Amino acid sequence: NLRVRFCPSPTGNPHVGLVRTALFNWAFARHNQGTMVFRIEDTDAARDSEESYEQLLDSLKWLGLDWDEGPEVGGPHAPYRQSQRMDIYKDVADKLLAGGYAYRCYCSTEELDERREAARAAGRPSGYDGHCRELPAEQVAAYEAEGRTPIVRFRMPDEAITFTDLVRGELTFTPENVPDYGILRANGAPLYTLVNPVDDALMEITHVLRGEDLLSSTPRQIALYKALIELGVAKEIPAFGHLPYVMGEGNKKLSKRDPQASLNLYRERGFLPEGLLNYLSLLGWSFSADQDIFTIPEMVAKFDIADVNANPARFDLKKAESINADHIRMLDVKAFAEACEPWLRAPHAPWAPEDFDRAAWERIAPHAQTRLTVLSEITANVDFLFLAEPVFDQASWDKAMKGEPAALLATAREKLVDADWNDPESLKNAVLAAGEAHGLKLGKAQAPVRVAVTGRTVGLPLFESLEILGEEKTLARIDAALA
Ligand code: GLU
Repeated sequence: NLRVRFCPSPTGNPHVGLVRTALFNWAFARHNQGTMVFRIEDTDAARDSEESYEQLLDSLKWLGLDWDEGPEVGGPHAPYRQSQRMDIYKDVADKLLAGGYAYRCYCSTEELDERREAARAAGRPSGYDGHCRELPAEQVAAYEAEGRTPIVRFRMPDEAITFTDLVRGELTFTPENVPDYGILRANGAPLYTLVNPVDDALMEITHVLRGEDLLSSTPRQIALYKALIELGVAKEIPAFGHLPYVMGEGNKKLSKRDPQASLNLYRERGFLPEGLLNYLSLLGWSFSADQDIFTIPEMVAKFDIADVNANPARFDLKKAESINADHIRMLDVKAFAEACEPWLRAPHAPWAPEDFDRAAWERIAPHAQTRLTVLSEITANVDFLFLAEPVFDQASWDKAMKGEPAALLATAREKLVDADWNDPESLKNAVLAAGEAHGLKLGKAQAPVRVAVTGRTVGLPLFESLEILGEEKTLARIDAALA
């Protein structure tokens, strides 16, 4: 049974890099009928927050990335929040110490800094130098008498570590590049370096897929795993695959703090989960050479970690939007109408709830569906239907009302009164005829009508809009513009 895990720390807002990692793990699990484990790495009380934890859960649910074991659903390895597993880590740390796989290190920060500087100056590797590896008992006693509190360090083997990365192929790390590292703080608190592989071992994770930024922890974790296997805590070393960096503006690594990286931003702008996931799946993977729009089930059917590209991926907002627009068009109209609902209500919509006319919305929806990039655009596109008066923007007004507009509007009004208000074609012919009377083509002739009725120079198909708004309101708005 293939088992993967998604194990974020609940700090800050979820970001796109995190979602890409979750997605690739999830797709890999689903493709292989494996198990998706969701674990919360909340061992850093100073940085973790309950709010961020709630947001993580909420985001995964919104995206439709479900999990088989983890918060809310439980599972055989519960609890899935590391803050509730402290006894386990303490127990494993004791075993590592007793077995000689780890040792107490009394070096102070100042001493460490000093020796690191000296090593640098001499051109030697500057990682931990193994000072406390084999301390004589008297030295330990002397340190204790001084009141020093030790951290616990893992003893790295003095040999190279080689593994086959699922994305990058064979990689080798030599000992001078992977010094002994801390696993418990001086106050006894366990570090990521310990809790992450311990939980992967206990939760029987078979594949670790995570960002390239964690590549340097892999040789450490493999060494720790070997110790855990010898201690009978772990069974097998998992396979590791490191997903490529995502580059943002100016070819710099997209950082958590980049506004473009915030998942909430996409959600608030009205990305569809399937549009966003489609886009994010292209950050390091491709569906096929000539197709980049696909459904999530289609992605799952094709996804293989072996096809992930090691080269950095470029985040391209325009492309994300265009893919989202395609997914909006792929919805059936009813689903589209429902998906828009949040933007047709407060606080997104400026009209009162009772002014929302569902029948009118359902009639205009099909015309809007083909024009949106993100769902939030719907509010401005249909506000003319639900507001007592259109929102005028002076620039549009001036632009549309240049030339002979008042005269044209008056003619259009006359013709519209006689038109068939159940037929957009008839409304169009009325404006066409008004235009002819003033020597204007339809495009020019409809501009002042559109501005008078909707407040804007661009928008949904005008004659369908007028029909749905209705004769009475349309004519009243033209009268107001003429007054
Ligand atoms: N909690 C770690 C993080 O947020 C998980 C890293 C891993 O996947 O090993 O980056």
